[in-house]
Amino acid sequence: MRVITDPAVLAGYLSDASNTHGHADGLLRPGDVTEVAEIVRHCQDNGIPLTVTAARTSTTGGPVPEGGWLLSLEKLCAIESIGEKRARAQAGVLLGELQTEIEATGRMFPPDPTSRNECTLGGAIACNASGARSFAYGSIRSWVVEVEAVLPTGEVVTADRSTPIPEGWTSPAWLQPKVKSATGYVPTDNLLDLLIGSEGTLGIVTAATLRLTTLPNEVFSVLAFFPSVEAGLECVESARFDEHARPRCIEWYDCHSLDLVRERVPDIPAGAVAAVWCEQETGDAEADMEVWFERLEASGALVDDTLFADDEPGLERLRAVRHAVPAGVNDIVTGNGMPKVGTDFAVPDEHLAEMMAAYDAVEIRHVLFGHVGDNHLHLNLLPADEAELAEAWAIWRNLYALALSFGGTLSAEHGVGKLKRRYLEQMVGGDTYAAFKLLKSQADPAWILGRGTLLDPDV
Ligand SMILES: Cc1cc2nc3c(=O)[nH]c(=O)nc-3n(C[C@H](O)[C@H](O)[C@H](O)COP(=O)(O)OP(=O)(O)OC[C@H]3O[C@@H](n4cnc5c(N)ncnc54)[C@H](O)[C@@H]3O)c2cc1C
Repeated sequence: MRVITDPAVLAGYLSDASNTHGHADGLLRPGDVTEVAEIVRHCQDNGIPLTVTAARTSTTGGPVPEGGWLLSLEKLCAIESIGEKRARAQAGVLLGELQTEIEATGRMFPPDPTSRNECTLGGAIACNASGARSFAYGSIRSWVVEVEAVLPTGEVVTADRSTPIPEGWTSPAWLQPKVKSATGYVPTDNLLDLLIGSEGTLGIVTAATLRLTTLPNEVFSVLAFFPSVEAGLECVESARFDEHARPRCIEWYDCHSLDLVRERVPDIPAGAVAAVWCEQETGDAEADMEVWFERLEASGALVDDTLFADDEPGLERLRAVRHAVPAGVNDIVTGNGMPKVGTDFAVPDEHLAEMMAAYDAVEIRHVLFGHVGDNHLHLNLLPADEAELAEAWAIWRNLYALALSFGGTLSAEHGVGKLKRRYLEQMVGGDTYAAFKLLKSQADPAWILGRGTLLDPDV
């Protein structure tokens, strides 16, 4: 197999959405799982670090190599089958493309990272990706029933939840926080769950079988505006604990997000300082909307300014508001020429308001939005120069310590990658960190796969 070394080709694979840059000696683009296994065996035998690169939408430097070779699964992009209960596809397929094909058959694969039209199925499984709908449907872990994978020694395996962890690997036993989390190796006895979320460090996912559900007939969407953060949070509390009219996603926009949206989308009221966007699957839209009007009135929303949508173009318009925020953030980052510093913490329900207050108190330029239903907000700190970048990381560290003191997690969905690996031990503790390293050494004796992702090889 040809190792591509042309610097012009390699250059396209050396960074990710976090703007982290790396270096590599070669790139391989295998055409099937047998070739993937051959490459892995060669790298293991020769101690060559091998980083899986997919669509590079990672925000944590995971697919960015720190030397060695890159492995791209871009040729493994077939949708193999779509049935009533299951679909099977290769890892390199774009998640959004796969979902569109599935939805054309009246079925649904729910995980919906905002990046779903750009990211791959394999990347999403490797990171245990979530998205807005994870509030109702959970992360991608809940929807993967089997993977085909190549282990770090080159063995090809098919793993489902009855497949034990290979002999000689020790499952790390630790207490995960009781919040949405994509941090570290999960404590499990089955190989499938261990591989999901292992960020390409314990195996390369080459194909997956997915569980499908019914595509709902009716969905409506609400974008409600609030004159205060307190009013918005009251609405969130009422929506997320409602047993009858519980939305499938509850998303938050702070006042800075709304400023970004205003530049791109009309109809954002001047008096709004926060907004909540929900989508709800319904069997009785009229009754459920009635519940919404009562909820909005009770929480003090700007009821007359609320946007409702119950058809596909309307739903898409409100989703476009959601997409306008990261797009606006990216424009600022590009304009500043500085990286952003982002949080991905989730905290238990009872600490949401305190965490929000801490985010709001931040003094350097920032934008706060995200999955408030899961107590999982993305605070984007947008430094304008090197001094502010240092300040942003100091703020990030304080907020991280606060999230941990509340029983929260380092990463709820983006993973640890390379940018946050130095903070993993602080969350899981020294013994668990050592257990992660032991497992990595047992599974991958030469530490070739995703070297430097999740775990620091030198610490
Ligand atoms: C604008 C934007 C919005 C986003 N929104 C969300 C969101 O809502 N929810 C969310 O969870 N994430 C989100 N993300 C983060 C990112 O999209 C996801 O983590 C995604 O799952 C990464 O997929 P990818 O194909 O781009 O993988 P990459 O970024 O290329 O790789 C990610 C990691 O997975 C490993 N990897 C990739 N493919 C495989 C494979 N087949 N086998 C083993 N390891 C592999 C890589 O080595 C790397 O460590 C967002 C990112 C952006 C830029």
